[in-house]
Amino acid sequence: QAPVRLAIAGYGNLGRGVEQAVAKNPDMVLTGVYTRRDPAGVHPASGVASYPLSALAQHRGKVDVLVLCGGSKDDLPEQTPEFARHFNVVDSFDTHARIPEHFAKVDAAARAGATTALISAGWDPGLFSIQRVMGDALLPDGATYTFWGKGLSQGHSDAIRHVPGVAGGVQYTIPVQEAMQRVRSGTRPDLATREKHRRECFVVLKEGADAEAVRQAIVSMPNYFSDYDTTVHFISAQQLAAEHAGMGHGGFVIRSGNTSNQLKHVLEFSLQLDSNPEFTASVLVACARAVHRLHQAGQHGCKTVLDLSPALLSPRSGAELRADFL
Ligand code: NAP
Repeated sequence: QAPVRLAIAGYGNLGRGVEQAVAKNPDMVLTGVYTRRDPAGVHPASGVASYPLSALAQHRGKVDVLVLCGGSKDDLPEQTPEFARHFNVVDSFDTHARIPEHFAKVDAAARAGATTALISAGWDPGLFSIQRVMGDALLPDGATYTFWGKGLSQGHSDAIRHVPGVAGGVQYTIPVQEAMQRVRSGTRPDLATREKHRRECFVVLKEGADAEAVRQAIVSMPNYFSDYDTTVHFISAQQLAAEHAGMGHGGFVIRSGNTSNQLKHVLEFSLQLDSNPEFTASVLVACARAVHRLHQAGQHGCKTVLDLSPALLSPRSGAELRADFL
């Protein structure tokens, strides 16, 4: 069978991750990287050619699935509906509150263009979403809890970098162990935001900045920090570069529920990731395989991971899956 031809739109952390993932999937081939920047300055690690994003229109017949690797805040709300009109697409849109709106736009574009789109793939949204749906379906009398971390939160790191007096910094989200133990006991505790996660910041001060004023500005910041117990550590620019450049992340989805008055059950799914973008990219590539198959089967419009069967994600045949994996 001919390999599935993938192209990458947007070459950042996720774009580089897709390139790595394609190398691990022999049924896939990468045909190009497309960027809004001058392609002469973008050098894909695999040696595949880079093109301006505007060249995609002429390359339509050469791409089976376009993997959109732009940011959720500003890029994907524009790019996914735009490209879904002409290409089968996968994205990792992760602004949970805006998923219904994004879905509606992408669905309209994909139906108009008779293409297949899959939005919000990755781990959360993505694999964690599947676990939440499974827990709810399998144990209807129960409660679901999601814990994130330990991992670097891009949004919170950006927020601290905007505080006056801050030259640089990162923020880690850390699940509270006691809360996780209570959840695992199956007692279905009511947990306040502050009880589930704590936040730890590593901050480089600008010269002459008042450390206590910076700390206060961070811990009292509404929406980001005021509802959490936040610790702020002041470090040097060298320490920030040497010790906080990693992109590890992970988390837990835990469902506990009862099938009868006396009998309770706990389902737990967890991820421990050395690289958030590389793992997310690996999920996107498996989802691209599913999108290609759905399109070949004439299923157009927008999908999410909740619409996929596991077999659609796998490169293996149905017979092989039944013999070795069922
Ligand atoms: P990123 O590195 O900031 O890249 C985003 C875009 O910025 C790229 O597509 C690229 O577009 C542009 N860019 C990258 N490096 C640049 C540079 N040096 N100068 C100028 N522009 C540059 O973001 P990311 O880490 O790949 O993450 C992308 C999105 O993935 C996030 O917004 C997040 O929402 C999503 N995500 C989802 C999940 C999930 O589980 N669902 C998990 C992780 C991340 P051009 O090449 O066109 O310039």
